[in-house]
Formats: sequence, structure tokens, C-alpha cells
Amino acid sequence: AITFDNIEKNFGSLKVLKGISGEINRGEVVAIIGSSGCGKSTLLRCFNRLETINAGHLTVNGIEIHTKKFSNRQLRQLRTQVGMVFQQFNLFPHLSVLENLTLAPRKVLGKTPKESAQLAGLYLEKVGLFDKASAYPEQLSGGQKQRVAIARSLCMNPQIILFDEPTSALDPELVGEVLQVMQQLAAEGMTMVVVTHEMQFAREAAHRVIFMDQGIVAEQGPAFQVISHPQSTRLRTFLSRLN
Ligand code: ATP
Ligand code: MG
Repeated sequence: AITFDNIEKNFGSLKVLKGISGEINRGEVVAIIGSSGCGKSTLLRCFNRLETINAGHLTVNGIEIHTKKFSNRQLRQLRTQVGMVFQQFNLFPHLSVLENLTLAPRKVLGKTPKESAQLAGLYLEKVGLFDKASAYPEQLSGGQKQRVAIARSLCMNPQIILFDEPTSALDPELVGEVLQVMQQLAAEGMTMVVVTHEMQFAREAAHRVIFMDQGIVAEQGPAFQVISHPQSTRLRTFLSRLN
């Protein structure tokens, strides 16, 4: 679980997160929506400490992660507990799919090559890419690359996965295969935070939707309610512009 309480984040004089609070409960799928520049990626990056915060409190599984006491050892542990999937996949181009998947389990978790290859096989199977184990990223479609990135994240056995616009870089016809994998993860009870512009996915797969506007949570609630029955003018305007 993640809790965040009144967190603020500035880049120099630019106030990006202006005292925002909320929680991501275990087993919950939460979609974060909002206009470009409202702070969605920044918030997500605070969750695994890719960004630091200027004020407020943020806990992951009960541990406050933005304190001076938070050690490098704890940071490594945090990064294994909280996986992240990026818009641009971030696969290592010079490594095969199998090597992309086995690298962190070997280096960070200390698994043997055999154990890590078994894990990789399991998760490649899950995302439907078992036959691509020896391919290189450049030989894959965008949808396949993103499914590999999801499998790579799963190899670390994370408790939470953060997705930052995982389908925004994809050709429209490839979006579905990635959303399907995410939907399956959601159905299996994975805790997921998904920044997305895919409202249909948010409505169907997310339990809760957070609408951010200019660094604050402007509206949040059950997915169906937020997307199909928006309360505020700002959210109604945002949603109408997507269609
Ligand atoms: P998008 O939908 O375009 O991805 P976003 O909601 O994810 O937008 P953020 O990436 O969180 O927005 O950025 C919020 C604001 O913070 C923007 O004005 C952005 O320019 C600024 N910003 C983000 N990262 C940095 C950084 N490292 N240094 C300075 N400013 C930054
Ligand atoms: Mg972003």
C-alpha cells in the first residue's frame, strides 16, 4: 500500500505538486488522469523515489520513504517492491529479451542464471511472448516491447507496479494487446497505479480514478463514477476534450 499526505514537489520555483493526499490500497487498481503537465508522472515518480518531495509524508508498505534515515539498502528494497513500466519501454537495446528479464533478478535478487531464466520463461509465457526470448528489442513491435517490459517488471515479484502512460507510444492497433495483459494483472489482484489517457481501460479495469489538475487532486472516486458521472466542470471539460 502507498499513502501520501499533503505532499509538495517543486522544480525550482515551479510548484508541481501542491499538497496532495491519497492512498493506494493493496490489491487496488488506481488510474491517474489529467491534462499534460498537471503532475501525473511526477507523483508516480515520488512513489518509488525517482523524485524526492519538498514537503509532506509518503509511505510505502508502512515505511516513510522520503526521510533522511531512508538508507540505500531500503531504496534498493523499495525499487524491487515497486516496479515501474514506462511509456518508452526502457528495454536494454543490446540485451536479448531473456537477458533483459534475467538481469535484475540475478544482480539485485541474487538468483542463479537457471532460476532467473525459469522466472523469465514463466512471465514471457504470461505476456504471450515465450517464443521471443532470444530476440532483441529492435526486432519487436512496440506492443511486444511493452509486454516484455511488463514481464521484466514481474520477474522482480513486485508488490506494486506503476505504469506511466504504457500505451501512449504505441500505434493504435497495438494498444489492445498491452491493455489486455494489464487487465489480466489487475484481475489477478496486482496493486497497480496507472497514468493513462485510455478512459475505457480506466473505467473497466480501475477500481478508483484520481483526476489531477494543476498539481492537486481535483476529483476522485470509483472509476465508473469519475468517468461516467464527473462532478466538476474541470473534469467534464477534460473528458470532453478526449473524445
Ligand atoms: P504529461 O501528460 O505530459 O506526461 P504530466 O502530468 O505527467 O504530463 P509531469 O511530467 O509530472 O506532468 O510534469 C509536471 C510539471 O513539472 C511540468 O510543468 C513539467 O514541465 C515539470 N517538470 C517535470 N519534471 C521536471 C524536471 N525534472 N525539471 C523541471 N521541471 C520538470
Ligand atoms: Mg507524464
